Formats: sequence, C-alpha cells, structure tokens
Amino acid sequence: MNIVYLNNQFIPSNEAKISPMDRGFLFGEGIYEVIPSYEGKFIGLQVHLNRLYNGLESLGISSPLSNEKWIELCQELIARNEGENLAVYLHVTRGDSPTRNHAYPTNTTPTVFAFTFDIPAQPVPEKQNATVYNVSSQQDLRWKRCQIKSTSLLGNVMHFQHSINEGNKETILFNDQNQLTEASASNVFIVKNNTIMTPPLDNQILPGVTRHIVLALLKEHSKFTIEERAISYDEVLNADEVWLTSSTKEIAPVIKIDDNIIASGKVGDVWLEAQTLFSQYKYQY
Ligand code: PLP
Repeated sequence: MNIVYLNNQFIPSNEAKISPMDRGFLFGEGIYEVIPSYEGKFIGLQVHLNRLYNGLESLGISSPLSNEKWIELCQELIARNEGENLAVYLHVTRGDSPTRNHAYPTNTTPTVFAFTFDIPAQPVPEKQNATVYNVSSQQDLRWKRCQIKSTSLLGNVMHFQHSINEGNKETILFNDQNQLTEASASNVFIVKNNTIMTPPLDNQILPGVTRHIVLALLKEHSKFTIEERAISYDEVLNADEVWLTSSTKEIAPVIKIDDNIIASGKVGDVWLEAQTLFSQYKYQY
C-alpha cells in the first residue's frame, strides 16, 4: 500500500480523504509539481520548489510549508515508499470552503497532498536504447497562462488524448501564428545545423525544470549554439532533430510528427550528446 501525505499526516492512500467542497475539486484551483528521484537522489528539487512557490504566489496562496519542510516531506515520502526510482507528486489547493463562490475565500487552509509513483530507471544513453516518440500536432487550444503549473489540466489532457487516439504518445502544439509552443506534457527543442533551439519562456509554455537543466548544461559544456526564440511549424518539420523534455522523459527524441518523418527518422548525434550531459550532471541541480 502506498503511503501518501495529506495535511500533515503520512497515511495509507486508501485512508486519504478530502472534502468535495475543496476548491481544488470544485474549481481545479491548485498548483502541482512532479519531482523525480533516482536511488534517493532528487533532480532539480529546488528548481521544482521555486516553480511551486511562483505558482502559489500567482494564485495568492501562501506556501503552507517552509522550504525546509517541503524538502523534508519529499525525503520522508520516498523513504516511506518502496521503489528505487520514485517521482514525488506535490499538490496544493486553496482548500475547503463552505460555499461555492468564484471569489477567493479569505480564510481557507490550503490542502496539501503528496504521493510517489514509480518511474523507469534511466538507461545509459545510447542511440539504440532511446525511447523514441511518434507525436501528433495540433493548434494549442489551452489557456494563456501556461507558465502556471495548474492542476486544471483539462486542456492538456484533451491534447494528450488526441495523440493516443492517433496511436501516438504526445501532441506538440502550435499557436495561432503557427509557432511552436510546447507539447501537452513536455517542452520541445529542435536542432538544425548544430544550433539547438527552444521557444522562449512566456505565458505560452511551462518553464520546464528539465528544459532549464538542459539549457544550462548545453551552455556550459557544449559547443552548440543555443537559441531561445520563436520557432515556426516549418522549422520543426525540417529540423535535423526534435526532442521532448520533461522530468520523467528527460530528453526524448521525436522521430515522426503526424505523417512526417523527422530527418532520417533515426535518433540524432546531438541528442546523444545532450542526454549524455544530462545523465552526468543531473544531480547537480
Ligand atoms: N510542459 C508541460 C505542459 C508539462 O506538463 C511538463 C511536465 O509535466 C513540462 C512542460 C516539462 O516540465 P518539467 O521538465 O518540469 O517536468
């Protein structure tokens, strides 16, 4: 039985109960994080916590725990659950209010819920054991505050399901100017002629922790030119390589978008270099 954390208590998951009047349930009014750990070591823990604080601040919710207590919670949860490689899921809502009213209530206590789930061990990066992605593409129909890691994920879920319906594993998204934003649960990078590009941080994308680490590593340890800039649909289709990044995928090569094979349809050399750097340095962040 998984042990979860709910409002100051570590309890079996089947004992965790929240009120249906919780604003997370009624309005999807909350912020979440997914933090990977391998053999007890977290990747990007502080960057994840900082993004959690930014999200809570944008909703006017004070962080219910101190930074030290969040770290303790994450460590305690992986210690109490079995599994070598676990992601910690953190979820904070505005809490339970007696009446349903769109206005923020003034005196609610945030609900804090956390659990772990198994993630696959990351193999030594080699082209032949990379998990490759065939993806769908769609116009990005989500809201205009994608920088907030909101628990209201209906827009993302619907885009993701589109890829499943098409026999794919992710949907990459383009805004109404036909510029790349991100994917339903990942950031996107492209490579062309030894330049590595990804869309800039703004309200159209989540500031991915993996994106942050990948950019920092490439800037510090590689000779590639790095550009954070608007990327058109045609540039994506004509790229030498396309990657998805996320905490559970790390850097994942995309080999097909809809009916279009990317370059040779094979995993690229730049991916290998980037994922090797990531595997070597990921615990430093
Ligand atoms: N973009 C979206 C919409 C996501 O849901 C995620 C992760 O879940 C990401 C990007 C990647 O973020 P991270 O690297 O912090 O996992």
